[in-house]
Amino acid sequence: MDSLVRATLLVRRLARSGYGLIATCVLAGWVVAGGPTAPLGPVPVLAAVVWTFLLGKRLRSKLRLTGDAPFLLDFELGALLAVGLDAVLLRFDGTLAGRFSPATYVLVALVASFGRPVAGLAVVGWVVILDALIRYKTLGEASLEALATQAGFASAFALLNLLLLRAEVARIRVTARSRVERELERLREDARSYRLLGAGEAAANSKKEDAEERLARSSVEEIHQSVHYALELLRRSLDLHTAVLLWRTDSGTHLRISELSTASDEIHDAPFSIGDGVCAAVIAKKEAVLLENLRPSYKIPYYAGPCPIRALAAIPVIEDGVVRGVLALDRVESKAFTPHEHDLAAQAARYCLRAIQNERVFVQLERAKVEQGKLYRAAQALGGALSERDVVEAGVRAAREIASFDLAAVTVWDETSRMHEVCAATSNGGEIDNLVGQRFKHNTGLVSMVVTNRFPLPYKGEYDAAHQIVLTKRLSWPSVPSLLVLPLLHHNRVLGTLILGARRRHAFGDTVRPTLEVLASHLAVSLSNARMVHKLETMATTDGMTGLLNKRAMLDAAAQKVASAHRFSRKLSVLVTDIDWFKKVNDTYGHDVGDIVIKGLGEILKRVKRTTDIVARFGGEEFVVLCEQTDEQGALLLGERIREELAKTVFHTPNGPLSVTCSVGAATFPAAGEKWDDLFKAADEALYASKRGGRDRVTLHVPSPASSARVRSA
Ligand code: GH3
Ligand code: MG
Ligand code: MG
Repeated sequence: MDSLVRATLLVRRLARSGYGLIATCVLAGWVVAGGPTAPLGPVPVLAAVVWTFLLGKRLRSKLRLTGDAPFLLDFELGALLAVGLDAVLLRFDGTLAGRFSPATYVLVALVASFGRPVAGLAVVGWVVILDALIRYKTLGEASLEALATQAGFASAFALLNLLLLRAEVARIRVTARSRVERELERLREDARSYRLLGAGEAAANSKKEDAEERLARSSVEEIHQSVHYALELLRRSLDLHTAVLLWRTDSGTHLRISELSTASDEIHDAPFSIGDGVCAAVIAKKEAVLLENLRPSYKIPYYAGPCPIRALAAIPVIEDGVVRGVLALDRVESKAFTPHEHDLAAQAARYCLRAIQNERVFVQLERAKVEQGKLYRAAQALGGALSERDVVEAGVRAAREIASFDLAAVTVWDETSRMHEVCAATSNGGEIDNLVGQRFKHNTGLVSMVVTNRFPLPYKGEYDAAHQIVLTKRLSWPSVPSLLVLPLLHHNRVLGTLILGARRRHAFGDTVRPTLEVLASHLAVSLSNARMVHKLETMATTDGMTGLLNKRAMLDAAAQKVASAHRFSRKLSVLVTDIDWFKKVNDTYGHDVGDIVIKGLGEILKRVKRTTDIVARFGGEEFVVLCEQTDEQGALLLGERIREELAKTVFHTPNGPLSVTCSVGAATFPAAGEKWDDLFKAADEALYASKRGGRDRVTLHVPSPASSARVRSA
């Protein structure tokens, strides 16, 4: 049943999408059967109606489509047109070789031009088959020669059309693309010559550079509008032929038309050397040059043909003592420029320069606004990071907003050991990820030099892998053209470095380096804060003499351990140790030796404890050990081990060798107490039982039904 439904649906789908093709085949069959040659009656009229209806529908679909039409649609259109054409030829010529027979080639060429290439070829096949059938069935011609000629011409027409059309489309595309590229390059060149963009900085293809280029482009437009307005005004008020602002190219070796207002059609818009003609004199002397009675043979670099003008005023546009451009004004009449006109032109030159300078300031302000936004976000992210690791991650993330790079690493500098350590390294391809944790001595590499000199390296962010070492010879750094090692400076102390590397050239140009330097100092402040937080945390939780937990941290941990022992119904043992006759040690050997003994017991406890055990100095020469999932027997064994280890330790003192013993009390949750206070009290009672029992022993608290604690010594 299911398969029957599926089959029905399939047939219906096929009928819906293929009815056009079926109808076309039926019409073709009618044509082959000689329908068009029969006298006019209802059948030919019906065939014409069906044909018109189908063609109309297919044409409508084709015109509505914006992209490439499906193969079937193109083929149906071509096949319908071929059937229609053959019908008309048969009706009016009675043969396919009549006056209108070349119309077939027009049809084939049409389909090949506007349809898909495969559809075009399929239509050629259809035309040839239809042609063969009509000749053979309808007209009774058996000559293969005529058919072959027809097929050959049809294929040639289709192929030629296809190739020519595609080639033409490709050519137009290439020309249009190169024209757009040229326009863009010209805009970039303008932006660079007005110093809105740094040299070589507009080449990268990242989002950041796109925004940067957009900004420069809009500024170039602004400059052109302002300058054009001034030139237009000058031309009209001074009755000029041309008013043109010539500007030095980025390299400074050529002058190029920046903007002009002219009545001439002979303008030569190509850069010319600054040594050419009148401009050379203006640039050399840094003074205006006024000429009159010029002859047609005089060469003006911005005119293509013979000199059309008789008077010329060339005014230098001077910025910081350098001639950046020349404002040239000329007339076709031989009317010299008056001092008043000269003065006006000098003012216009200053106006043009100001327009450029204003845009430069605008671009700088825009840039600063964007950079400040980034730094603000970076500061927020860094401020929220409390651990050293989080700070480093936030710093690298923030750097990514400022510059695009492929490799980033952070090293920390330990002044006491004079060693560097890579504490973070990330790269798109994973090439430097294995550097994390690597330590290296201070050397002559870039990182060490940056730490010593507190200055970013290498110069301009350009890395020469053949001659420069980044970390150390042993730890290789990928050979990338761009590299920047920034010092992490805080209060004039170097905490380490931030290293960025990029696979493209000029990745760390003048526009990004200052911002990255500010980010590095933010990173240094946050790193120093994170270290301080860590130090305070450690100080608050550890005992300074032994490095073990202090009483407060121990009580916090104990509350958690008791709670989890409750939840999971597990045993938990507490051991309390106290050195025997310790006052005597202090009195006989001095306080310092007493401290050494306390530290010695601390070391023993660190050594014998399991990773899950917690050891704390509880005060004076008393220590507490908290052992998870440890029963009475386990506690006794551990206590015994501590006692034995201390007893066999010999402390060498100025007054000779010293050995001490300790007493231990142990109690186990839940039998000895279900709350921490009860449990600790029980262990303390057991300790005093050890003391009372003669010291140098371990006692386990054994709870009694009568609630008074009994103790069992080991
Ligand atoms: P007992 O066998 O009964 O424990 O005798 P004891 O002399 O060891 O007595 P107690 O445990 O009460 O003595 C603790 C002494 O430890 C008191 C104090 O002078 C000394 N002490 C406490 N803290 C320190 C310390 O940080 N360094 C040194 N050197 N001595 C300390
Ligand atoms: Mg004590
Ligand atoms: Mg003691």
